[in-house]
Amino acid sequence: MNRVKKMVILGDSARYDLCNYGNYNPDNFLSGKLPGIYNATAGNGVCIPLFKVLMTNKCSNDCRYCVNHGGHKFNRVEFTPNELTSTFLDYYNNRLVEGLFLSSGIPRDADFSMENMVEVARKLRMEHEYNGYIHLKILPGTSYDLLKRAMSLADRVSVNIEAATPDGFEELSTTKTFNNDILRRMKWIQRLMKKDENLAPSGQSTQFIVGATDETDTEILKRANWLQKKLDIKRSYFSPFNSMKNTPLENHSEPHPKRTSRLYQADHLIQSYGFDLDELVFEEDGNMKLDLDPKYSAALSKMEMFPVEINSASYKDLLRVPGIGKISARRIIESRKRNISFKSMEDLKKMGVSIGRAETFVKLKSSYQSTL
Ligand code: SF4
Repeated sequence: MNRVKKMVILGDSARYDLCNYGNYNPDNFLSGKLPGIYNATAGNGVCIPLFKVLMTNKCSNDCRYCVNHGGHKFNRVEFTPNELTSTFLDYYNNRLVEGLFLSSGIPRDADFSMENMVEVARKLRMEHEYNGYIHLKILPGTSYDLLKRAMSLADRVSVNIEAATPDGFEELSTTKTFNNDILRRMKWIQRLMKKDENLAPSGQSTQFIVGATDETDTEILKRANWLQKKLDIKRSYFSPFNSMKNTPLENHSEPHPKRTSRLYQADHLIQSYGFDLDELVFEEDGNMKLDLDPKYSAALSKMEMFPVEINSASYKDLLRVPGIGKISARRIIESRKRNISFKSMEDLKKMGVSIGRAETFVKLKSSYQSTL
């Protein structure tokens, strides 16, 4: 099979490994052009085209959501390290992509596949003097030395956690283990990064599959928060479960399309706005409301805190007001330091506040702006 045909298959197979916030979006897969090009969001929010592909869709594991699971009989393909290196360079040298995101199925053991992935990264760095972005998936069960070699070549590495709890993980696969194959590898990465800042300098990320088990939003956010605090995981991606034909979960229902967006919003409130998990509002079933964003929901549940007086509220309290983000809260504080006071919602609008969302929750010079 020629390289283009392999790219069509293995570039498409990589779509469920997220490199972008939000759900899988066909617009992020520029299939009208060439296979394997996806838009990714860099740390500074800038969109960059990535070459995202699997080395192979051959796999002996039994992940119940995955079309590449070992029990599915179909024609499998694989790239050799030489083929993948030259295919990537064709894209890169023609300015079609700005970086590589590489993962793989596991036909034998994790090290066999990881060795091939590391060889691609080595060739690019050492033989072709490629200095651009490389993200390598660390396959569950990869050995310590190989993981270290991968980190010496990659900007970012990631181990997919898939589930929030060991029980949830066991429901999804019997051939991988939560504590050993996933968490232990994440801890190794954390330890190695602390020892040497040149190893995977952009840190490690991970991905949850949302809706493939009964795990709740509370469990998922708790785990994402734990990963960030205890293992220095830079980003958690929330991939909505997709029921695919020829998988054991093909008849399993898919999550509501808004669910992963709510998880991203809630995770952002925790990681970036300093919310505690218990400030968020969960329904009796452990999930968040879908029709209200988590910040609005949290504010409604604590109406005794509101309205906040914009002319004296702390930065932390400003951040709890729907419609006030980090930039507008900082602008308000800076303006107050220059003795500027806020008298009308128009004044707040100039600070970047979304006044429609905020007016119920703020006071200006002791005067209420609106009631619910
Ligand atoms: S390890 Fe699991 S998720 Fe990855 S390709 Fe194999 S079956 Fe699919």
